[in-house]
Amino acid sequence: MTVALYGFGVSRGVAIGRACILARGALDIVEYAIPNKFVDEEVARFEAALATARRQLKEIRNHIPTNTPVDIAAFIDTHLLMMEDTSLATAPIHSIRTIKCNAEWALKLQRDALVRVFDQIDDPYLRTRKDDIDHVVNRIQRILLNESTHLHDAAATGNRLNGYIVLADDLSPADTVFMQHQGVVAFVTEYGGATSHTTILARSLGIPAIVGVRNARRYFQPNEQLIVDGQQGLILATKDPAIVDYYRGEQAEEQHHREQLSKTREKPAISLDRETIALYANIELPEDLSAIARAGAKGVGLYRTELLFMNRDDTPGEEEQFNAYRQVVEAMKGALVTIRTLDIGADKQISGLNGTIPANPALGLRAIRLCLKDPSLFKPQLRAILRASVYGQVRMMVPMLSTLHEVLHVMQLVEDSKRELRHQGREFNAQMPLGGMIEVPAAALSADLFAKHLDFLSIGTNDLIQYTIATDRIDDSVNYLYDPLHPAVLRLIQMTIDAGRRAAIPVGMCGEMAGDSKYTRLLLGMGLREFSMHPTLILEVKRIIRASNVAVLSDTVNRVISRAHPDEIVALVNTLNRDDF
Ligand code: PEP
Ligand code: MG
Repeated sequence: MTVALYGFGVSRGVAIGRACILARGALDIVEYAIPNKFVDEEVARFEAALATARRQLKEIRNHIPTNTPVDIAAFIDTHLLMMEDTSLATAPIHSIRTIKCNAEWALKLQRDALVRVFDQIDDPYLRTRKDDIDHVVNRIQRILLNESTHLHDAAATGNRLNGYIVLADDLSPADTVFMQHQGVVAFVTEYGGATSHTTILARSLGIPAIVGVRNARRYFQPNEQLIVDGQQGLILATKDPAIVDYYRGEQAEEQHHREQLSKTREKPAISLDRETIALYANIELPEDLSAIARAGAKGVGLYRTELLFMNRDDTPGEEEQFNAYRQVVEAMKGALVTIRTLDIGADKQISGLNGTIPANPALGLRAIRLCLKDPSLFKPQLRAILRASVYGQVRMMVPMLSTLHEVLHVMQLVEDSKRELRHQGREFNAQMPLGGMIEVPAAALSADLFAKHLDFLSIGTNDLIQYTIATDRIDDSVNYLYDPLHPAVLRLIQMTIDAGRRAAIPVGMCGEMAGDSKYTRLLLGMGLREFSMHPTLILEVKRIIRASNVAVLSDTVNRVISRAHPDEIVALVNTLNRDDF
């Protein structure tokens, strides 16, 4: 008999191995009262658990494999820092003392408060910080409850993990690293998202992984032979030799693909007909920075600055922002850094911005609209970016533009900021390019007007698709409409690229579409020459660029754009992606 389950394939590759089922379940955290005289003891119990958790993470950190494309130590360091942060290290102590509750409960209260903040964020990547909170809290709570904390236990009890496929509820980045070290060949989790850090790590370590396979641990037996297809998100238990043989063949092909991919790291992003393409990285966190060089990116095409403003009670001042931007610019050693001004508001609330959430937050006061309304929020950022521009090659990029007024208003504020800085004797690059994001249909339709005033344009497809098709990018019930290949979206992208070409200014793309290799040839054929994406996606896009003849793409691409039927569009894009095209 063959049993097959599907989840989200998040790290490609085929693995064949025996099942190691981690029996950990959700933690049952109950509240109980601590009598006054035992409060100090309870605080000490919490502190000891925190210290043990830190020790465990440091130990795992010391066993990180070298030569991986993502700076894995940074992921573990993030968790270590969280354990030192007041929100997790001291707030629970405060609760133990004031509410007189047990340490596990105090930690749960703090976890719930932090998660509520993260639940309001609509950016899927930033939302993964919520997973980080859970991983850290979970580790400390398991220590408090004397439960097994990670896979060490499985390995230590002689249950060697070499060659195993691990099935778990969820895995932290530390578990993932430990697993790789033990020779685990794939992992399957019941929870976890496509953009979680664990997923990114698995991809970077080259371990096939599937997440979101609900109840996976109930369907398979320990030590049963399993096949994991990380690309399809498929997990199979089978003894059928024909199926096993088929997947062995897939494995060999996959291995070949990986070898080819790693060879492109040092190679330039040049097509077969010698078109040079700029491949940039999107970053939000310091750990992305170290991944850039390893992924072979030419620079940063989108630095989302929101994180600096989130999860705090105040807004960062000019000096703090300047130091943060300067750090990124210096780390890039003269390579391009595109710093995006604040894209926040509505459902991405930050503390200190009082105001009610309107009925249609995505159409409300967000991004540049909010910044122009409140220069006390915007000006320090403009000044900080200008000052950081001295330390490398910096561009400033404005999100969510919808009218020319906004473009002119921003330009005016930039000029004011320059004048102030000059007056104060502060250094800045007076030539720093100013660009705008095309994320709203009105902006795409006015791209030629914007292009007369701006130094570059960047297409933010995540929002452009949402606003063009009027489909909320985070609402699962309408995501069947969210389609990069919708003719309206393609036409707006084409208009933007053409407007940039006519005005002789660069046009890039920094939404998810730019990093999805299914669309690389389509976009090349449309004339796009700058792509910015998460660093882990760069090698695959580069491989496709190097195997493409850009000049021959335009004919089929024109047919894609003029076709109305979605099936025909998909068929033509598949044709473009054929090896022999
Ligand atoms: C986009 O909208 O495509 C984009 C890159 O911006 P964000 O995802 O941060 O809204
Ligand atoms: Mg956007």
